[in-house]
Amino acid sequence: MSKSFETKVVHNSLKQDAEKINSKATPIYQTSAYTFETLEDLEGYFEGKSPYLYTRNGNPNTDELGHAVAQLEGAPAGMASSSGMSAILCGILAAVGNGEHIVAAEDTYGGTYQLLTQELKTFGIEVTLASFDNLEEVEGAIQGNTKLLYSESVTNPFLRVENIKALVDIAERYQLKTMIDNTFATPYLLHPYEEGVDLVVHSATKYIGGHSDVSAGVLVGREELIEKARGKMVALGANLSPFEAWLGQRGLKTLALRMKQQSENADYVAESLRNHTDIKHVYYPAYVSEKGNGAIITIELNERCDMDRFYKSLGWIKIVPSLAGVETTVSYPKGTSHRALTEEQQEKIGINEHVVRISIGIEGAKDILAQLGDAIEASLHEA
Ligand SMILES: *Cc1c(COP(=O)(O)O)cnc(C)c1O
Repeated sequence: MSKSFETKVVHNSLKQDAEKINSKATPIYQTSAYTFETLEDLEGYFEGKSPYLYTRNGNPNTDELGHAVAQLEGAPAGMASSSGMSAILCGILAAVGNGEHIVAAEDTYGGTYQLLTQELKTFGIEVTLASFDNLEEVEGAIQGNTKLLYSESVTNPFLRVENIKALVDIAERYQLKTMIDNTFATPYLLHPYEEGVDLVVHSATKYIGGHSDVSAGVLVGREELIEKARGKMVALGANLSPFEAWLGQRGLKTLALRMKQQSENADYVAESLRNHTDIKHVYYPAYVSEKGNGAIITIELNERCDMDRFYKSLGWIKIVPSLAGVETTVSYPKGTSHRALTEEQQEKIGINEHVVRISIGIEGAKDILAQLGDAIEASLHEA
């Protein structure tokens, strides 16, 4: 019997087996669920015979992104989630439970700081912040119920490079797990997992994606911890959409090229800015890895620089409350990433209105330097 228009318009897909098509790029599996021919096939999913049931539980594109970053980090397993923050939350919940305790670096990313100091309470998880510059302070903060040491490989905005080996050492002595946010360094520069860290997390919104067009997170580590974290992600509904995963994976392909160029540019710009008479301080790591020192530079301008004029005179360098795109951008830590801190807390860690974080892009290094120089010059004079 010929079907009605109403039926045909729904059942019209030319379903083809992706494997036989040999598409050069990974197809986007933009589907919320998967089909089964028989109840036996359906049961097969729960017996581990077929990989996918429902996209919140798993999807080929999100799996591809998690797997790719895991490989680059040298870790056996990885998962992608809806944002860096959800990857951090799922990782923490995989390692720490109700009634347990975390010792975390006091200088983490603003969103992480908020999660640690506010939200984890509602999960019954206690957190002590410590200056991770001071290993005695880290050890001193460990309690009987401590399960996790949490820090970042390179911090925001002052680019402190974490002593990962020393943290892993302490963790082994006290039988704790370690978790490191490797967003700023990326696996191009550092591999915390290979140094003994249990969980490594990325805001893939930043260098992994690299093009400022996707919000995503990735968590990598040992199989059983990632499985546990994946369970949390499924339960919390923190899954990444297939298209976003696809964009993240596409961006990732050029990570090496981007990081090489961006680190080289940053080295050049940081060195040149050190001699600038109107810059009080240039924060840029002396050494991150043999491949480079990353692409974030934070500067503190002299008090006589008018900051409104500085930001207005940056031309093609835009003010963006994020980082890691291919374009050079600046952010205003006092008003964005560290806005939630009190004035005293900001002062304590060195944030004031003259502090500018620069995310160096892939443009010509001399052009970046010239544009920043012009803006500093303009900040000194009435327009
Ligand atoms: C941006 C960022 C995060 C949060 O990532 P989202 O993708 O915005 O959720 C976490 N850690 C660091 C270091 C970041 O820069």
